[in-house]
Amino acid sequence: MALVNERTVEITLTGVTFSYGPLPCLHNLSLSLQPGTLYGLIGPNGSGKSTLLDIIGGFARPQGGRVTIGGRRLESYSRGELARLIGVVPQSFTLNFDYSVEHVVLMGRYPYLKRFSGPSPEDLHQVRHALELLDIAKLAERPVRTLSGGEKQRVMVARTLAQDTPVILLDEATANLDIKHAISIMHIMAKLVKNSSRTVVAALHDLNMACAYSDQIIALYGGKLVASGTTEATISPALIETLYQVPVTITAGTDDTPQTINYRYH
Ligand code: ADP
Ligand code: MG
Repeated sequence: MALVNERTVEITLTGVTFSYGPLPCLHNLSLSLQPGTLYGLIGPNGSGKSTLLDIIGGFARPQGGRVTIGGRRLESYSRGELARLIGVVPQSFTLNFDYSVEHVVLMGRYPYLKRFSGPSPEDLHQVRHALELLDIAKLAERPVRTLSGGEKQRVMVARTLAQDTPVILLDEATANLDIKHAISIMHIMAKLVKNSSRTVVAALHDLNMACAYSDQIIALYGGKLVASGTTEATISPALIETLYQVPVTITAGTDDTPQTINYRYH
């Protein structure tokens, strides 16, 4: 079943600068994010990935520059409007309450619920579909606080899928997952991008996952955009060394396999 949201939006950042108090974090960043594209956002710890996602999601306001969504300034959108356009799986979250898994995933539908009315059949359908896609349907009745870290992470992704937005921001959403579930989530995202022209921006530490699933790479270092473009053209030993100071070799991809980064361990 296809998710129903067929809207697409272009996002542009022009000369975006952001500081936490006196501490500069992002410098003069310009980007254009197109529908139908999965962006792998890479860079070392502290390079500004989460801050960039916070800005795109409307949670942090840049001190300089401009962000537009669908041609309109981001600040002109209400929280509700943004919630119907952009879904976010944050890097850290707490799910410590007694709500059931199903209830938490249903929260993804809140931006669509009419005031004083319960969920529609469409809302319940989206919730059920998201639970199944994330392999947590059998946990639906469980209080979320009783789940493992990886299960909670999948609940967060399911909630965002149920939100059914044209733009999805994933902040290390696969970091705590076993490879089966990590691959499955990236596969779901790639399908959404391909079949319904979503825009997905995924901050990833697993560079081979980034190579396997990203159409485009956005590389940050010290709050600056140091490289962007198609994955093939952008990922290089020189870039990886610049970002992480780790020497690597790269095995070229074929029609069936993505390019692979080989680390040198010492
Ligand atoms: P990344 O997600 O790439 O690891 P972040 O965007 O979280 O990087 O952080 C970028 C920089 O901003 C880091 O130097 C970090 O210490 C700093 N930073 C992040 N959040 C805050 C905050 N709330 N207050 C002050 N500094 C922050
Ligand atoms: Mg981060």
